[in-house]
Amino acid sequence: MATAQPVLKVENLTTSFQGDDDWLPVVRNLSFEVYPGETLAIVGESGSGKSVTSLSVMRLLKARTSKIEGSVTLNQRGLLGLSEKQMREVRGNEVAMIFQEPMTSLNPTFTLGRQIAETLKTHRGMGSKAAREETLRLLEKVRIPNASARFDEYPHQFSGGMRQRVMIAMALALKPKLLIADEPTTALDVTIQGQILDLIKTLQEEEGMAVLFITHDMGVVAEIADRTLVMYRGEVVESGDTADLFRDPQHPYTRALLAAVP
Ligand code: ADP
Ligand code: MG
Repeated sequence: MATAQPVLKVENLTTSFQGDDDWLPVVRNLSFEVYPGETLAIVGESGSGKSVTSLSVMRLLKARTSKIEGSVTLNQRGLLGLSEKQMREVRGNEVAMIFQEPMTSLNPTFTLGRQIAETLKTHRGMGSKAAREETLRLLEKVRIPNASARFDEYPHQFSGGMRQRVMIAMALALKPKLLIADEPTTALDVTIQGQILDLIKTLQEEEGMAVLFITHDMGVVAEIADRTLVMYRGEVVESGDTADLFRDPQHPYTRALLAAVP
């Protein structure tokens, strides 16, 4: 792993928002790398700057009211200098994101089958028939029962866990080098949470993706992450192999997070 190039390299990332008469930094001097085939977790309590970090990496913050400094390199290409048009291509073709509430990224008026099929047509240039077949294959891959029967159902007809499976299928449709998952299991029941984490792990092994996994939950970190970055009030307080971090946490904040794990 040490010889491979990182899929994502973030150096001295500082993100600030426009305050009344000054820029207020909410993420400060963040540096990390994610390598092919590994899962890096960013963990920290609510408000610590995890989502702002992922949104900064993908340049999804409003440019007028936010300022991003440092450098973000995806597959050896710097992202912070790219135009908005170039960024749209990067988002569509190289990175997939899944979020806490899948409903917000699904179009309620499109059947789930159609949303995935459209993604395949747009991003992988597939024709209608091939896109339908690939959609069914992906729905089966994320273990949606009766995939062909459910192809024509709408998002509201699915449970939260099933919607998150569909989002993962949609992410896989892009064949991304990097998957950014921002609290993808937080809104789900504990048993469903475990199933979704297992699914992400299995798919990652099969596809060899790099995963940046954001969570507030050390229990989830233990399940999924090879390496972990602990964030507190916008800064990294500790990072390392997940197993080492659990065995021998160095920072009091990491110890506090671990104490909360049942
Ligand atoms: P987390 O994901 O770790 O819960 P966030 O990254 O969402 O935390 O937020 C970090 C901090 O940045 C919070 O104090 C939040 O209020 C602030 N923040 C997030 N988005 C914006 C924004 N668009 N404008 C101003 N402040 C923001
Ligand atoms: Mg968040």
